Amino acid sequence: PSPADTETPLEMRLVPYGRDQRLLLARDVTRTQRLETMRRDFVANVSHELKTPLTVIYGVAEEMAEELAEADPQWAPSVQLLRDQARRMQRLVQDLLMLSRLETGGVAAERQPVAMPALLDELCAEARALSGERGHRIELEAQPGVNVLGAESELRSAISNLLSNAVRYTPDGGTIRVGWHADGHGAYCRVADDGIGVPREHLSRLTERFYRVDKARSNATGGTGLGLAIVKHVINRHGGRLEIASEPEQGSTFTLVFPPEAVTYEAAAASA
Ligand code: ADP
Repeated sequence: PSPADTETPLEMRLVPYGRDQRLLLARDVTRTQRLETMRRDFVANVSHELKTPLTVIYGVAEEMAEELAEADPQWAPSVQLLRDQARRMQRLVQDLLMLSRLETGGVAAERQPVAMPALLDELCAEARALSGERGHRIELEAQPGVNVLGAESELRSAISNLLSNAVRYTPDGGTIRVGWHADGHGAYCRVADDGIGVPREHLSRLTERFYRVDKARSNATGGTGLGLAIVKHVINRHGGRLEIASEPEQGSTFTLVFPPEAVTYEAAAASA
């Protein structure tokens, strides 16, 4: 029977046995699933509980940065550090909450046509602001009238993660190209940079939670280590997949591949 036909969730594997026989191994994974649910709930609860105290700490640190540091400049570096670290913890907690929401839900909840060209335009502007004086060139080429049937908030967060990574892992003045187009097989949202790239041996693990090629660099640039895990969950929930291509010192390309069912066309574009 297939695992779905039985009451107990089973994980099945065929292994070679003897010369031309196979052995079917079935394992009851009820306990594993229960532990996974417990882990998920625990992370979600802890993150939720940390949210309020962190907001308070960050607020107070900001106040101190303005007033105390001005009155007594010797405190300025410590107060700055306090504020930055509180901010970093806030980002981490936000990402953890987002990830646990994504992990518990099945398919994307709200589904409506999301105008990708407009969304990408907005997110590119945000990425330019993030780059600021670092002067990256951020170029967008989007096929008009092609939309995604999906959850806008999730798509926004996924693409914004890809863009902030591109900015963070590309040296000043580098080029980031964002593309959006569709063909008969689906639609593709591409974020390509000419930055530091990723050595081949790390590629397959990039979307694991907290996996970083260079932890120090990631921390220094404000990363939480959860960005690509979020991206992967979001695209999976839209029935698609994340493709990664990268070459050290040459750059990286991250592509969200949407299946045809998740793509809609505006009437004007369809008849054009
Ligand atoms: P982080 O917060 O550490 O950036 P992510 O999950 O977003 O976490 O990314 C995981 C790791 O993948 C990063 O630490 C970095 O090593 C690598 N990475 C992600 N995007 C890029 C990129 N555009 N160029 C080079 N390396 C990248």
